[in-house]
Amino acid sequence: MYPKVFKDLIEHFASLPSVGPKMAERLVLFLFKKDREKLDDFSQSLLALKNLTVCQKCFNISENTHCHICHDKQRIQNIICVVEDPLDIISIERTGIYRGLYHVLGGTMQSSGKSEKNELKIPQLLTRVINEKIEEVILATNPTTEGDLTALYLKRKLQPTQIKITRLGRGMSTGGDIEYADETTLSSALSNRKEL
Ligand SMILES: [Zn+2]
Repeated sequence: MYPKVFKDLIEHFASLPSVGPKMAERLVLFLFKKDREKLDDFSQSLLALKNLTVCQKCFNISENTHCHICHDKQRIQNIICVVEDPLDIISIERTGIYRGLYHVLGGTMQSSGKSEKNELKIPQLLTRVINEKIEEVILATNPTTEGDLTALYLKRKLQPTQIKITRLGRGMSTGGDIEYADETTLSSALSNRKEL
């Protein structure tokens, strides 16, 4: 029904999260109507994605072995905010009130019993806490069942180090997502973090 190029692109778009086949068709048609220069820009950006990597220290998205946050010596070096994925860092950075470091876990532990524990960057976090003389870890996993479960697991793991362990304060609604929280809510959740 479609030329092959069209069909292939529709398949690529449809494989993205939240994009159904109809939306994929519309997106490809939209791109087809764009001028050549815009298409070149778009395809260059897409190709450039291959040059991105993850930070060796905190697992944030990075252009180099260490991300811009780990590189920034102006940041408070003895506080780590633990998040599920790099988009949470973007949300927290937008509030402008947090000046410490981060650690991206890469997901959560699953309440269904199927544990992702082994793939999470938990051992790396524990090593950092000791090596970097961290004094506080903020557990900023989402306030969902899985996020809470992960926070409790991390608390148990971190307890022997006797550092301060905090969790984001009230304000974030249960089942909510840090990535989608507005700046005011997130700022107050950070400021009102409670010791676990
Ligand atoms: Zn980093």
